[in-house]
Amino acid sequence: MSEEIINKDNNELELEKMEKEAVEAIVKNEIIETEIKREKEDFSQQSTSLQDKKKFFFSKRVCKFCTKQVEESAINYKNVELIKKFTMPSGRILPRRISGNCAKHQKLITREIKKARILALLPFLDR
Ligand SMILES: [Zn+2]
Repeated sequence: MSEEIINKDNNELELEKMEKEAVEAIVKNEIIETEIKREKEDFSQQSTSLQDKKKFFFSKRVCKFCTKQVEESAINYKNVELIKKFTMPSGRILPRRISGNCAKHQKLITREIKKARILALLPFLDR
């Protein structure tokens, strides 16, 4: 950690790297999961592989709020702990393809994140 303090440029570069790695790790996990599923399906049904691939595409991730893992009413700018989970370490809002939210709930979350940013509960950009 002491190396980061010595050079500001290095520090910024490392933060950028860390962010990229975090996002890449999430995406990689997704890819691995889908690949495993695809392999399983290939074993069971080889004839209808095209249809299976299409099915995967749509059933890969589900919205946490639609499946009631988290209450919809918990989406609030005051609930910083929850909202923070939908932001990157740098402060950017997680895209829907990674978080898996539906359009409705993603919109609610982004609105609350933006409110929280104005009230300085969350950073616009965290360097
Ligand atoms: Zn939803």
